[in-house]
Amino acid sequence: MGRPSEKETVADPQSNFYLSLFEYHCVWMRIAVISDIHSNLEAFKAVLNDMPRVDMILCAGDLVGYGAEPNEVVRLVSSRKVRSVMGNHDYASISGDTTWFNPVAAQAVEWTRSRMNPEAKRLISSLPTRLELKLSGWRVYVVHGSPRDPLNEYLFPDVPNRELADATRGADADVVILGHTHVPMRRMILGKLVINPGGVGQPRDRDPRASYVIMKLGSEIEVENRRVEYDFRATAEKIKKAGLPEELGTRLFFGW
Ligand code: ZN
Repeated sequence: MGRPSEKETVADPQSNFYLSLFEYHCVWMRIAVISDIHSNLEAFKAVLNDMPRVDMILCAGDLVGYGAEPNEVVRLVSSRKVRSVMGNHDYASISGDTTWFNPVAAQAVEWTRSRMNPEAKRLISSLPTRLELKLSGWRVYVVHGSPRDPLNEYLFPDVPNRELADATRGADADVVILGHTHVPMRRMILGKLVINPGGVGQPRDRDPRASYVIMKLGSEIEVENRRVEYDFRATAEKIKKAGLPEELGTRLFFGW
């Protein structure tokens, strides 16, 4: 795989966040796509163990929030050189802004905010809201919510074509990678392949197994959805012991 060349980092006029552009020149690449780890170390480790050899791990955000091990997850994200964008929980955990959160999620954000160490805070603060890469000639765009609203918009698998077209119009890309819903999705819209790998740390499609995607980029694009069993009982126990709302552990048993 070629060495990355950082093209530029440009200010995003719509916010204080920034956009990173990178280019990689290779015949084909295998990329792992993950999202919404949510401080669930067991699920994240299980996904990393399941992963074949990949050239890069991309993450659509929400490294923290909900679970009891934000520092451990961020350390692993850093050591495995995961390229991530910022999610709404990441943003809330550094800013303290919980305007869009329900009471349980807000409580988890406050907990996370009070426990994160300086390294974790530094890494989370450095995450871009949008990431654009050129991989094996394909333009890949990563964002947590949608290109239209990077942090907060939900694009569920049943989103109407027109809505999906409007929400992704701003992405000049062949592949748009999203997270936020915790529900796997694969759609084609106006020549763009839109992928949501589902949730690593809190799947919400009634399947409790951690969800992620392996994407092969060559003359064509191949996408494989993978599900991985992990010890959600251990995660739930840690959530309970940490004093986080217990339902954040219970829901993991049901994949909801
Ligand atoms: Zn999330």
